[in-house]
Parts: sequence; structure tokens; C-alpha cells
Amino acid sequence: MTDPLLIPCAQCAGLNRIPAARLGDSPRCGHCKGAVLPPAPFDLNEAGFAKQLRGDLPLLVDVWADWCGPCKAFAPIYQQAASQLQGRCRLGKLDSEANRNLAGQLGIRSIPTLILFKDGKEVARQSGALPLPQLIGWLSSQGI
Ligand SMILES: [Zn+2]
Repeated sequence: MTDPLLIPCAQCAGLNRIPAARLGDSPRCGHCKGAVLPPAPFDLNEAGFAKQLRGDLPLLVDVWADWCGPCKAFAPIYQQAASQLQGRCRLGKLDSEANRNLAGQLGIRSIPTLILFKDGKEVARQSGALPLPQLIGWLSSQGI
């Protein structure tokens, strides 16, 4: 596998071509020089969402809100998952209060909700928080 992967930058959503072998080397963005694949979840918003759905790595989205206790309890687990899955799956967070239209379009009825996108399409959805081993197991069952 020497073909570079097409990956949107977590900071600016600009597309980067990154060889598969370099995914673990904290690649920098050719557009903004930021971390393309940060070891922590990155914030999504309505303006950049479609751009972040592009590329060759799956995108997991945690839909949350500031007033949601279970969402806050889940945040450190999600953080650990982002670190474990760096280079295999991108982990984003969507604030459902700040992005109500998009949350509506995604059909969010309860939070936290996790949605997995591959090739720009939703392939799996999980309502409610999961402990880390179950989260990793769920993603693994989705080929991640
Ligand atoms: Zn960038």
C-alpha cells in the first residue's frame, strides 16, 4: 500500500495527501500547518461538516451538548478512543446546540449519539454513551 490517502485537515478541512505509512507520524497540514490527525477529538460545525466527510478515513461523530451530563461523562472516554484510533478513524464532536440545523438533518433524537461515516455516508449509529472497550469493539465490528 503506497497510495497516499486523501484526508481533510481537522483544523481547516483542507484536503491533504498522506502516504499510509506516514499516518502515525503526526502529519502537518499543507494548507494551515496544523495537525491533520490530532490525537484528540476535533470540533465540527455546520459550515465545515460536508468537507470533513470527504477523504479516505472513516469519521466518527459524537453529537453532544453542554447541558448533557452523560455527554460530559463520555468526553474522557471519547478522548482516549481518539488517541487509540489515531490514523485509523477520525473522531469529531458536534455541539448539537450550536449546530441545531445540522443536528436536525442528522435526525438526532437523543444525546450523546455516535454516528460513523465512511465515504461520506452514515454506516452505523449508536445512541447513548459506551465504555471504552465497548466503543472500540463496536468500531472494530465496523471494520475499524
Ligand atoms: Zn489545515
